[in-house]
Amino acid sequence: MGTKATISVAPPAPLLPDNPLYEQYFDGLRTGRIRVRECTECGTRQWPPRELCGACQGSSFVPRDVPTTGEVYTYTVMYRAFHPWFKDQLPYGVAVVEVEGGIRIIGRYVGDDPEGLACGQRMEAVFDDLGEDGGSIAWRPA
Ligand SMILES: [Zn+2]
Repeated sequence: MGTKATISVAPPAPLLPDNPLYEQYFDGLRTGRIRVRECTECGTRQWPPRELCGACQGSSFVPRDVPTTGEVYTYTVMYRAFHPWFKDQLPYGVAVVEVEGGIRIIGRYVGDDPEGLACGQRMEAVFDDLGEDGGSIAWRPA
């Protein structure tokens, strides 16, 4: 058995998912917008994106921007890093923020005191660039 080498370089942030259904969403984040899909048949807005409309089974969609502010629907506080990149961020919050009826967007909480998070708290989106190509979202108090 050989000697195991160790690397002291910080690990990269987790990459974006490679899924074409999310392309418009991540394109929106890179330009400071939250973009979901709207069914061209019935107008239902859909998040997360799926192949078919949950209301009418339509398969044609157009991108629609939704508000970049909303209220905390639920949240959690992380005390263990699921990925090494987050190790120095602990503890940190993760919030699910409802920006319009039924559209709930998850993101890191970047305000002070993650243990003070509360349901119903007003939030605004912060568009940062965790990944190499940017396109990540975080929340801070509005
Ligand atoms: Zn529909």
